[in-house]
Amino acid sequence: MAKARGAIVVDVERCKGCQVCRVNCPHDTIGMAAEVNGKGYHYAYMENPESCTGCTNCAIVCPDGVITVYRVKQN
Ligand code: SF4
Ligand code: SF4
Repeated sequence: MAKARGAIVVDVERCKGCQVCRVNCPHDTIGMAAEVNGKGYHYAYMENPESCTGCTNCAIVCPDGVITVYRVKQN
């Protein structure tokens, strides 16, 4: 059976580090970077990339709409 896999891309400079995406990811994919962006915020990134299903929850809940989700079908 095909298993859904996904990947996210965060617009790092527009992320405000609020962590809403991280707590709403059902697969614990997202972590906060140790580094900060130009505004001084710890931005979201794929801490566990293999766990992402491309469900789009994170993109929907991000208050600033800075996450893009890509879906990849695997056999
Ligand atoms: S698309 Fe879904 S599984 Fe992937 S990081 Fe976002 S909330 Fe998590
Ligand atoms: S919800 Fe959006 S602004 Fe907040 S940490 Fe995640 S990517 Fe950044």
